[in-house]
Amino acid sequence: MRYVRGREHPVSRAQLTEHLGVSRSKVSLVVGQLVRAGLLVEDGLGESDGGRRSSLLRIPREAGLVAAVDLGASSVDVAVTTLSGEVLGRIGEPADIRDGPNRILGRVAELLAGILDEQGVAAREVISVGVGVPGPVEYVSGRPTVPPLMPGWDLYPVREAFADGYDAPVFVDNDVNIMALGEHRYGLGRGVENMLFVKIGSGIGCGIVVGGRLYRGSQGYAGDIGHVQAAPNGPVCACGNVGCVEAMAAAPAIVREAERLAGQDPGGALAALREAGKLDLGSVLKAATYGDTEVVGIVRRSGRIIGETLATLVCVLNPSLIAIGGGVAYAAGHTLLAEIRSAVYRRSLPLATRNLPIDLSELEDAAGVVGASVLATEGVLEVAS
Ligand SMILES: [Zn+2]
Repeated sequence: MRYVRGREHPVSRAQLTEHLGVSRSKVSLVVGQLVRAGLLVEDGLGESDGGRRSSLLRIPREAGLVAAVDLGASSVDVAVTTLSGEVLGRIGEPADIRDGPNRILGRVAELLAGILDEQGVAAREVISVGVGVPGPVEYVSGRPTVPPLMPGWDLYPVREAFADGYDAPVFVDNDVNIMALGEHRYGLGRGVENMLFVKIGSGIGCGIVVGGRLYRGSQGYAGDIGHVQAAPNGPVCACGNVGCVEAMAAAPAIVREAERLAGQDPGGALAALREAGKLDLGSVLKAATYGDTEVVGIVRRSGRIIGETLATLVCVLNPSLIAIGGGVAYAAGHTLLAEIRSAVYRRSLPLATRNLPIDLSELEDAAGVVGASVLATEGVLEVAS
């Protein structure tokens, strides 16, 4: 199913046989089961390979739809997609995750209902729901667990919140994990076995794909690099520890550092921004893209701290791709990326970095909803099979 979903065009049984490396009869047996279950349909005839032309297979829309939800610290993004990942409708808006689960999930329900309405689709056609949240999630129960950026969400039963609206399983994961899934299946990571996806926004986290599968660790916590210690005497983090990568390099740290420099240099560009009441993340990062030396220094410091942490992960996991995403990464442009690259390449041994591209996400701000759709689709197909 994953192979058929990943192709833009219908595929033949012969292609499936070649890709899966199993016998023709095994492929025919499984395809027959999936066709009878309504998850695959025959769609035209393929090229002849000398013998009989074989029929092509695709996943029909009637097999069901998926509701995909990406909750960020400061945004919600929802979509309704087919099982093949085609986005039928998508809508996003600013939101404050600290408003708590009732308000945020209530709004998510409204947005999803709006898309279904617009598409003329009944809620019963949704056969799976995927949700990403910006904090640690115990994957087995789907509950956020002591999430530093999400007061009021600790142990909240996110799955149950969708039970009224949908008769479908709900899969909940960390937002960075779903971004890694999206990027791996539909973005830069297509065909890559081992990769990291790093999100740099209000927080910092990392999704780990090993052998083509998301690696969650024992409880679902794997990859939370934001709370690795970068400096023993650093600032206090939202998690209560000191000197965390997140406390030193994520969006709030960048703004805080800009404020400090504005105070030190009353005649500088940062002080002027503060005077105009515009010393926020957006204008600080924009100043970096214009080459303002002080601000470039702040962004480079963030990049160095993140890159040095990633170098440790590179030593442990030897990935062949690092994709960088998140609001700070997209807004900061090349400066941040260049500094991350240079720190990783400097701190890792040549064998680990010989083929290690470090690039901005191809899916950019859609990585989350695309990944939530992948989570829901692969989850429900696994449950069904
Ligand atoms: Zn921390």
